[in-house]
Formats: sequence, C-alpha cells, structure tokens
Amino acid sequence: MLAAALKQIKDYSSVLAEDYEDKKTFKKAIDAILIPQRIIKGKISVNVDGKKKTFQAFRIQHNDARGPFKGGIRFHPNVTEDEVRALATLMSLKCAVAGIPYGGAKGGVVVDPSKLSKDELKDLSTSYAKFIAPYIGVWRDVPAPDVNTDGQVMSWMLETYEKKIGLLSPGTFTGKPLELGGSLGRTEATGQGGVFVLDVYARAKGIKVKSSTVAVQGFGNVGFWFAKLAKELGFRVVAISDSKGGVYDKKGVDVDKLMRLKEEGKMLPINITNDELLTLPITFLVPAALENSITKDNVGKIRAKVIIEMANGPTTSEADKYLYEKGIDVVPDILANSGGVTVSYFEWVQNLSGYYWTKERVNLELKNIITKAFMDIYKVKTLKKISFRGAANYLSLKRMVDAMMLRGRV
Ligand code: NAD
Repeated sequence: MLAAALKQIKDYSSVLAEDYEDKKTFKKAIDAILIPQRIIKGKISVNVDGKKKTFQAFRIQHNDARGPFKGGIRFHPNVTEDEVRALATLMSLKCAVAGIPYGGAKGGVVVDPSKLSKDELKDLSTSYAKFIAPYIGVWRDVPAPDVNTDGQVMSWMLETYEKKIGLLSPGTFTGKPLELGGSLGRTEATGQGGVFVLDVYARAKGIKVKSSTVAVQGFGNVGFWFAKLAKELGFRVVAISDSKGGVYDKKGVDVDKLMRLKEEGKMLPINITNDELLTLPITFLVPAALENSITKDNVGKIRAKVIIEMANGPTTSEADKYLYEKGIDVVPDILANSGGVTVSYFEWVQNLSGYYWTKERVNLELKNIITKAFMDIYKVKTLKKISFRGAANYLSLKRMVDAMMLRGRV
C-alpha cells in the first residue's frame, strides 16, 4: 500500500514538473512529500483482564504546509507503520484536492478491540490520547475516528487531552457526538459528498439523471447513504450488495426497505453475486466497500460507463490503466469520498467559532466545496488531456508544492 501511494506521487509529479521552471526546487518539494514530517511510535499500556498489557501505537504526521495535520485513528490487529504512513500521505492529497486547509495524518494501535470490554476500550483510548497529547491540538493535529473507533472513543480521548492541557478544546478531535460539539450531517457526509460529485459529473457530461442507472457495491455507512441520496435525486439505483451478495432489480431497488431488513438482522433478498454486480450494464458503478475490488481479473467484464470510487483504493493500478484506455471515466477516491473529511473540517470550524450550523447549511457548504473541487479537476483534466485521477493528483501535489515553496521549506 505504501509503495503504491509513493509510486502514485512519483508518477503524477512528472506531469506537474512541466509547470515549474525551477526543477531543482520542485524535485526537493516532491522528495519531501514522499517522507512524513513526523513519525510518533511507541508502546502504550492498557489494563486487560486485570493485568497491564502493552500495544504498539502510531501517529504519523505527513505534511502540514497547508494547515494542521488531520486524520483518523484506527484500532485493528493488522495496523502497520507502512499502512499508517500510506494513509497519512493519502490524507494530505485528499485534503489538498478538496481544497480544505489541512495536511494529512493517521494514527493506529495494533489491537483487536473486539476482544476488549468497554472499560478496557476506554483505558486503551485514554492511554493512546496521553501518548499523542504532546503532538496534537486545534492548530497542530486534529484526529478523528477511523476503523473500529467512533464518537465514544473520541469523547474519551477529548476528555483525557483537555485534562492534560487544563483547557476545553473541542476542536482538537472531530467525529464527536453532537453533545460534545459534533456536527450535524457527519453521518451521511461521505455518501452525500459522493452524490454531489455524481450530480455535477452528470451535469458536466450532459448525462440525464432519469435515464441513468447506478449499482453500489457495499451497503455500510457509505454505500447506504450514497444509494439512498442518489435515489432521492432521481437516479435509478438498480443494485446494491454487501459481503454476502447483491440485490438487483432493473426497475430500481428499495434502498430504505433493504436497510430495514439489514437492521432487523434479516437476509437481503440476494439474487446476484458481488462479481455479477460489477459487470452489470449500467451508467454508474460505485465501489463503496473494500480496496482492490476492481482488478485486472474482472476489469475486462465491466460494462458501466463511469466508476465513482467511494471506497478507498478500490481500483488496482493495472485495472485503472485498462479503464482509461477503454474510455471509462474513473472519478477517484480522493475526490469522491472527501465529503467525510470536509464535514470534519466544518466541525472544527464550528468548534473554533463556537457557533453551530443547521444541517441545511452543512449540506450547502459541502455541495459548494465538493462541486468546486470537481470543476477544478475537470478543468485540469481537459487542459492536460489526462485522467480524472491524474488531474486530482496533479492538483493536490501542486497545492502542496506551492505551499511548501511559499513557506521557504524547499
Ligand atoms: P462499513 O464497514 O460501514 O461498510 C462496508 C460494507 O461493505 C458493508 O456493507 C460490508 O458488508 C460490505 N462488504 C464487505 N466486503 C464486501 C464484498 N466483498 N463485496 C461487497 N460488499 C462488501 O464501511 P464504510 O464506512 O461504509 O466504508 C466503506 C469504504 O469507504 C471503505 O473503503 C472506507 O475506507 C471508505 N471511506 C469511508 C468513509 C466514511 O466516512 N465512513 C470516508 C472515506 C472513505
């Protein structure tokens, strides 16, 4: 994963290099972007079954030339330093492409939280917050939830941090519950942002909403909200799937009814496999589950006209190359799923000002930011005759390089 992220930066920087006269300074900036500014790692101690146990913990701060570091904290047994570093790097690119004033970071603890009691999870969260406390803060680094962490974990971490600094500082963590300064609209933000991208893409390309069909792989937070909101906008959502298989109806599926079944613990009326969903003859294919779901083995069978990447890294680089050559647009993850971090940014803005927005305002501001990000990328794509992914990477790297040069860091 790290190798792929670094290769992506090296590859796309060659297109950007043409725009800089001072090639030496440009190269220095790209070399700096390949390396995180700070790697914080160590063991944290947690009470488990009445005994002290230690766990490996990381916080990696990638680049803060554009603003404070920002990124989630995950608790997972497969966390590695390389993975955290790759995710921190991708966060820098995502914030730059969305045009929000942050640099990237990521944190993680190598632990299986499903084996912990609630008290042990609280102790883990507290211990991790003490570990990163000297390196975070509203204008330094703003963590958020990620895999296996949530609003409760953020609340425990916030309390620990505030006690340590002797000051209330709600803007130091985002993804908090509303009671502690969270933002309205955060739950659906990633799916909502993706649907704004879907809408602006359709308008830019002259695709009619009513005659467009959509298939969504993944029926978790992102997939559900994307499917529900796309349907509300008039797109025909013909298929959705979870890890067990998919539901297909060419007249359109009832997204809310399927979610009710899932919440009641009932089986979805599965009638296609996950692989079949990927190959349906549709307008928009939306991978919203896992990384590497579109590969060289299945890409040849894809009949969708456009792919909107809602999961992180769902298309392998070989499959991406094939799709580009075949003329199938791929709207990349760093743009399509940036709605989540954008509403986290709104949470921070609200905490800093102490004034809280309505959900309507959150959605309007999100629409403005993500539509502008799409149009900026679309202009670069057209001008440079490159893919959407190429244009997104071009723009994010340019914004980071320019910020580093202005600061005189290179
Ligand atoms: P989630 O855990 O809520 O849902 C994941 C869904 O994928 C589940 O419905 C699961 O059944 C399904 N799934 C798992 N394996 C599958 C398979 N082989 N085929 C089809 N479906 C399968 O996760 P989420 O929060 O919805 O995140 C989904 C993706 O979006 C991840 O890649 C995540 O990194 C990315 N993402 C999420 C957010 C966010 O705000 N939640 C933000 C940015 C990116």
